[in-house]
Formats: sequence, structure tokens, C-alpha cells
Amino acid sequence: MKRILITGAAGFLGSHLCDRFIKEGYHVIGMDNLITGDLRNVEHLFPLPQFDFYHHDVSKFIHVSGPLDYILHFASPASPIDYLKIPIQTLKVGALGTHNCLGLAKEKNATMLVASTSEVYGDPQVHPQNEDYWGNVNPVGPRGVYDEAKRFMESITRAYHTFHGVDTRIVRIFNTYGPRMRLNDGRALPAFIGQALRGENLTVFGDGSQTRSFCYVDDLIEGIYRLLMSNYTMPVNIGNPHEISLLDFAKEVLKLTGSSVSIEFKELPVDDPKQRRPDITRAQELLGWQPRIDRAEGLKITYDYFRSLPQEEWSKKPKEF
Ligand code: NAD
Repeated sequence: MKRILITGAAGFLGSHLCDRFIKEGYHVIGMDNLITGDLRNVEHLFPLPQFDFYHHDVSKFIHVSGPLDYILHFASPASPIDYLKIPIQTLKVGALGTHNCLGLAKEKNATMLVASTSEVYGDPQVHPQNEDYWGNVNPVGPRGVYDEAKRFMESITRAYHTFHGVDTRIVRIFNTYGPRMRLNDGRALPAFIGQALRGENLTVFGDGSQTRSFCYVDDLIEGIYRLLMSNYTMPVNIGNPHEISLLDFAKEVLKLTGSSVSIEFKELPVDDPKQRRPDITRAQELLGWQPRIDRAEGLKITYDYFRSLPQEEWSKKPKEF
């Protein structure tokens, strides 16, 4: 049985990856320090003999006994509301955490895939963003702690590939959504749904003309799976190129939820990217991948998931650290 280590396993994406690799017949070792994740995301896997969970901070030395075929490094605070509160941990997990995972990959002769992000493109001056664009990141702006950690992550991953011959993959993930996201994680999609559920007005920042492109989680997981199984070592964008302005998106959420609240405008946060859309030509050509689930369908599944949560979850305040 193939063995895979997934860091950030108790998080949104990590837990879906655990499910996928269990389904593919792997022995999955999930690792997480639960800083932004939630054990409830993986508790259904605990009874399975082919699942182990290590409560561990990957920024510290990592030991896993026995062979490993793959490592997926997904541990990192991922939403601005988290990483702005824990900037040092964010930098450490992108830098030291990645270094530790790469060391383990080298020792075990495992293939390692790192979760990079469209944030490496910063506030992009090229649209849509393809993998050859170098980005427009402010290293000393508030979001720099996340963006630069991920840029370092890509760099050290390449260095381990070229210098140590470790087999590596880099996925640049664009905004992804779906069940197991947190309603209060500060991102636009859960924020709108949470407000609609609570009967509050939806808050749109700026004039709402800034765009996002939302990818449903099952599509993303399929793209990651295909990339891991390929032999392509340079970065690959995985995301949904269907772009929408945040104002139009807020209107879509209102329509879906049948809510009669209104839309309120607030000041745009610092360095908020104005537009975001992946160029997925590389993923299409190399992996034969493209998203299959459209926003109407994905949004409905996600809304039903949030609505099914106990009502006290709807108004839970963001996590304090
Ligand atoms: P998440 O916060 O739900 O999951 C991250 C997980 O990592 C959490 O369970 C957290 O407890 C864990 N973690 C953080 N620091 C850790 C550490 N030092 N040691 C061990 N565990 C640690 O976020 P997510 O949305 O699932 O994101 C997962 C990964 O994907 C992140 O690396 C993120 O940067 C990347 N990503 C996500 C998106 C997205 O749209 N969700 C977009 C781009 C990139």
C-alpha cells in the first residue's frame, strides 16, 4: 500500500485530500497542529486503519517512521484574517515547514507537492495570470508575510529539485471554495453566505468591481491529483477561469439564498488584489484538466453545507490566536 503524508490535514483542502487518497487506496498520514484547522474535518477517518493523525507543528523537525511515497505540504494559514494575526507562524510554515518537508522527502525518496497560491502573483499587472508571470508583490505590505512565504516555498522546492534531485511539484492554487471552509475565515464567499444566513447586509469592499474566480473544491483536488501523478516539476495554475466581480457575486449569493438584505460598501483593504483569473492552458495541455463544476452548482452545495451546520456556527467570531 502506498503511503502519503499530508500536512495541514485538518484544514479545508487538506481534509479533502485525505478523503481522496484514502479513496485511491493509500495509507494516509495526516499532520496538523490545528492552528487554523479543525479535527472535525477528519474525524470520520479516525476509525480507518489506513489513516493516522499526528498532532504536530511542521515548522519543527518532522519524523515519520516507515517509507513514504508522497508528501503533500498544505500546512499554512490561508486566509488574510488568519495570516494577518499570525504573521510569524505563516512565514515559518512557508519557510521552515517547507524545508522540513523537503528534508523528509529527500530522506524517504518521496515525491513532494507544495501548495502555492495565486498570491505569488500579488496585485497582478498581467491578466489573466499564467505561470510565466513573475508577479507584483509588496514584500513589506501586510499580505507580504503570506505571499513571500509562498514565493520562498517555491524557490526552495526548486532548489531541492535541481540541487538534491528531489522529485517535486508546485501547484498554484486560485480561490477555492466548498464544504469545510469556515464561515468566518474572512474570504468573500463564506463571508457573504454567513451574512445572508444571519440576515445581515452583505459587505462589499470598494465599489465591488474587483474580480475573483472561484474553483469548486472537487475540481481542485482532481487537478492536484493529476499534477502529482504527472512528471511536471514547474508550477501549474489550478483554478477556475470563470471570473466575476465581487458585486455581481454578492448579487448571486442573494439570489441563491432568497435573502432580502441589501449590499453595503466599505473601504477596500490595503493591497487587495483588483483582479484574479488563472490562465489554465498549462493544466489543460499537460494534465488534460479543467474545472467541471460551475459556480451555480458549487455554490448551492456549499450553501447547503453551511446551512446544515448548527446555528451557533453561523455567528461564530473569527478565531483568536
Ligand atoms: P486551512 O486553514 O483550512 O488549512 C490549513 C491547515 O494547516 C490547518 O488545518 C492548520 O491548522 C494547518 N497548519 C497551519 N500551520 C501549521 C503548522 N505549522 N504545522 C502543522 N499544521 C499547520 O486552509 P486551506 O484553505 O485548506 O489551505 C490549505 C493550503 O492551500 C495552504 O497552504 C494555503 O496556502 C493553500 N491555498 C489555499 C487556497 C484556498 O483557496 N483555500 C488558495 C491558495 C492556496
